Amino acid sequence: MIKNFVGLLFASSIILSLDCQSQTKLKALIIDGQNNHRIWPKSTMMMKSYLEETRLFSVDIYRTAYTWGGNEEATRKLLEEWPLENGQETTHLSEPKMDPGFKPDFAKYNVVVSNFGWRAAEWPSETKSAFEDYMKNGGGLVVVHAANNSWGDWDEFNKMIGLGGWGNRNEKTGPFVYFNNYGEVVRDLQPGRAGSHGPQHEFVITARIPDHPVMEGLPEKWMHSKDELYAKLRGPAESMNILATTFSSPDWKGTSRHEPMLMTLNYGEGRVFHSMLGHMDYSFESVGFIVTFQRGAEWAATGSVSLTEIPEDFPTEEKSSSRKFSK
Ligand code: ZN
Repeated sequence: MIKNFVGLLFASSIILSLDCQSQTKLKALIIDGQNNHRIWPKSTMMMKSYLEETRLFSVDIYRTAYTWGGNEEATRKLLEEWPLENGQETTHLSEPKMDPGFKPDFAKYNVVVSNFGWRAAEWPSETKSAFEDYMKNGGGLVVVHAANNSWGDWDEFNKMIGLGGWGNRNEKTGPFVYFNNYGEVVRDLQPGRAGSHGPQHEFVITARIPDHPVMEGLPEKWMHSKDELYAKLRGPAESMNILATTFSSPDWKGTSRHEPMLMTLNYGEGRVFHSMLGHMDYSFESVGFIVTFQRGAEWAATGSVSLTEIPEDFPTEEKSSSRKFSK
């Protein structure tokens, strides 16, 4: 009888602690559906998995009803291979198209991760307003790679992301922002279109604010896996901290500038983590991408970082490191 009672206590305490855990998890929402980077149906699942493996987050996905990728057939196959589990029905198209019903309940979430990309169709105006309100009132946003290509004409979005590329961005959007060889931040107002990259390659990420919670304890320099090295981005760049840069080498058709790679921003009461990394699935597999993404998402959600452990497979300055992603 006593044994049963103890057993019952034990079981109920497990249930109680499981229940507490799920109640205290941060809620993340990945939004996607239209991105010229055809890998997006898979990279959404990769980011979902990276957030869940921290045990800090529960993750939902909200997709536009009309989907589009840079390569219609390749994206269609990826959508079949990496299906949504929430039962949402979508229609795959050969061109981006506005989804008038796209109305995520942003306020339910601690952080929103955008996996939209270049040429993503505009959101309905009430959805844009709702998102601006969500951010001004203390929401969190994570912007990954081509997510900074979307909606160049949406001024408030440009303020949130700080810097963006393509999407009709030019000197009207804001300065080019980069570090010079003396470690000074340059805001360059000369005219020109925003956004460029050379051929993909591995490149070294250099910390610029090593004591920021997202960067703390990481090596000062580490080798990122093969990726597109974004350069010549422009934007309002207000309330923006550049956490890390990469030298954009002329050997790779680069700018000879130290281009921002990881940033944080404040927008109203809201927080933004912006990673330039993540062109293809092999780029998302970089341990440096994974760790900074997990920490950045926690920072955007809460303003602090509890994920301070440095994994043993973190890259060094000389050698990249990646984790093969599978279902
Ligand atoms: Zn890319």
